[in-house]
Amino acid sequence: MTYTSTLIGYPYIGEDREWKKALEAFWRNELSEEDFEERLKKIRLSRIDKQLQLDIDMVTIGDFTYYDRMLDTALMFGLIPKRFNWQGGKVDLPTYYSVARGNKTAVASEMTKWFNTNYHYIVPEYEGQALQLTENKVLADFLEAKEAYGIIAKPTLIGPYTFCKLTKGYSKFTQVEYLLALLPLYTQVLKELVEAGANWIQLEEPSLVTTLDAAEIKLVQEIYDQLAVAVPEAKIMLQTYFEALCAYETLISLPVQGFGLDFVHGYKGNMASLRQYGFPQDKVLAIGVVNGRDIWRSNLAEVNATIQAIEHLSNAAELWIQPSSNLQHVPITTALENEIDPVLKHALAFADEKIVEIIELTTCRRDKEGTLQHNFSESMKAIEALKNHPIRQNKMVHQTVQTVTTQDFERHSEFTQRQKLQQQALALPLFPTTTIGSFPQSDEVKRNRNAWRKKQLSNEAYEAFIEQETKRWITIQEELDIDVLVHGEFERTDMVEYFGEKLTGFAFTEKAWVVSYGSRCVKPPIIYGDVAWASPITVIESAYAQSLTMRFVKGMLTGPVTILNWSFVRDDLSRKDVAYQIALALRKEVEALEKAGISIIQVDEPALREGLPLRKEEWGAYLDWAVNSFKLATSSVKDETQIHTHMCYCEFNDFIEPISALDADVISIETSRSHGELISSLQVNPYTKGIGLGVYDIHSPRVPSDEEMLTIMRDSLQVLDRHQFWVNPDCGLKTRKETETVAALANMVAATKTLRQEV
Ligand code: GLN
Ligand code: ZN
Repeated sequence: MTYTSTLIGYPYIGEDREWKKALEAFWRNELSEEDFEERLKKIRLSRIDKQLQLDIDMVTIGDFTYYDRMLDTALMFGLIPKRFNWQGGKVDLPTYYSVARGNKTAVASEMTKWFNTNYHYIVPEYEGQALQLTENKVLADFLEAKEAYGIIAKPTLIGPYTFCKLTKGYSKFTQVEYLLALLPLYTQVLKELVEAGANWIQLEEPSLVTTLDAAEIKLVQEIYDQLAVAVPEAKIMLQTYFEALCAYETLISLPVQGFGLDFVHGYKGNMASLRQYGFPQDKVLAIGVVNGRDIWRSNLAEVNATIQAIEHLSNAAELWIQPSSNLQHVPITTALENEIDPVLKHALAFADEKIVEIIELTTCRRDKEGTLQHNFSESMKAIEALKNHPIRQNKMVHQTVQTVTTQDFERHSEFTQRQKLQQQALALPLFPTTTIGSFPQSDEVKRNRNAWRKKQLSNEAYEAFIEQETKRWITIQEELDIDVLVHGEFERTDMVEYFGEKLTGFAFTEKAWVVSYGSRCVKPPIIYGDVAWASPITVIESAYAQSLTMRFVKGMLTGPVTILNWSFVRDDLSRKDVAYQIALALRKEVEALEKAGISIIQVDEPALREGLPLRKEEWGAYLDWAVNSFKLATSSVKDETQIHTHMCYCEFNDFIEPISALDADVISIETSRSHGELISSLQVNPYTKGIGLGVYDIHSPRVPSDEEMLTIMRDSLQVLDRHQFWVNPDCGLKTRKETETVAALANMVAATKTLRQEV
């Protein structure tokens, strides 16, 4: 038996986000193309250097990018939308970044979530262009690594099925036509790699873990049959991740030399398949056994036992030991975290620490005597210490979660009854206007916050500034004649951190960044203890804003599912239990707001959809507890108190049922870019509660005219009852300039007033 340690991929942002900084400097024209290339090369090589230092057996290349790897693949094949006027040949950097970010004349390609991660990729667009290999970038990286370190690295590419599946636009040309154009290019890339001396080539096919129908399975077979004929000399490691391989019994005999399976997120399914169907003896089995998505240290003794079980079931002659997915979803190293709780720190494993685990496991498998027990017990001790941490011993919280009953999810009365009472209590006009919560975070706001964080500004001075900004915007909203006001969220940096800092159980890192999209990085909080409400979080700001006006000011909270989905979460409890803990904490905040005289409370859940499992058959279970969490947080208020929620990118159309199940009195959703689709789906699936359709897109600085917004509103009224209809922008306005915001809102209110006259 041979064992090889390897990775599916390694983060590219750099320990100090050097990559992000280089990209952004280049975009600001502060770096010449040459200097930029130089900097990126340095980062690219230092990643290889580090992997070699850590002593990984097989280094992976091709996992580096200048923006996004789907984009790289698309542009490598000349898949550039016509609007960018590309003339053929090697794609230059300005064109590359135009597709990613748009330019003066052409809008960027769409961006969407990479499976169930928080990473967003650029969606390739096929418009029937003649495809061509513009540049074999993977080959360039392969040769670079060979020259610099004398290694034969394992090149990785997004596989043809996944790439094809995630491309949009080819419906006009059929998938088969598209693949016919694509496959010769894949063939060429593989051929060139083999000729340059590549041994193994990894093709990433995460789409093979989603639910596949018979036609799709057949297509996958055809693709790999064709590739095997076209480049028989290529040794392909067909890599899956995020779930168990679908249709294992069929797909496992594809004509490839190796299969990569996820034994963390697809543990149950892949183990069952191994047990039932075994593993082909002529293939190498790559096993993802260290979690590539979370930040926790592995229990090495347990993982070692898993590997043994896999060995036993598969009878594979060669095993590759690796993380369950690309490590780009986790931060780089815990070594830079000097401020966090040492018990927590000791139990963490980011990318570099995960590599060490992989190597320890590989060494242990090679050394059958078991002399490495010492290292295993280290990991066990760390996990044990965290388990016994007082922060996880909040008996009250545990007990409350366990004793939640279905009654705790329900409002006192049904929606129709509440609606009547709320109409009486709030007396809002027809088509109430409102906004989603945040107002522009101007340079001044950011400056003040930074100064306060650095202790250059006292608490009093900072709070006074926030009050002054809130007051200014209450006046602006009154002058605009908006019906339901917001305080503006000037005190918040981000939707989760602000709450995490005031609840128990959260930790915040200094440098634990991961890419969200392009150069944008996020630093998710870590939920490592029991979450509980300690004191009011938002009451002071909301009550202050409410005291300034006769109109209603909405209380503004981030919902439990969004807090969960945008954090790294402890793994000793189910996600459901953690969500319920957060929900129970927020329930107290909701009650505190109500008690402080706030009559409308909005609980945002933009990430509700993000948590959906990859397999459709598991959606129901997730939605059950996700919806219940929201209800748990919001249901204890009086009938007269109006609960709002907000979602963006929720693709409302096929999501109406769970949204309705939230039982929020009013939901505001993003729709301005897809409002046609929404109208037609509302025709089929009526929605009966209050609903605010986003009437303009806040992602663009453009100020929409009132006519434009009126059209959306008039259309919407064809499928919505006038008494359920609210008017609001698509999302919060924190990234917009003040002038744009005021102008757009003025048009929105004007449009609403016209509409009121029409009906
Ligand atoms: N209330 C938040 C805001 O306005 C909502 C943000 C979001 O939906 N992403 O900023
Ligand atoms: Zn939003």
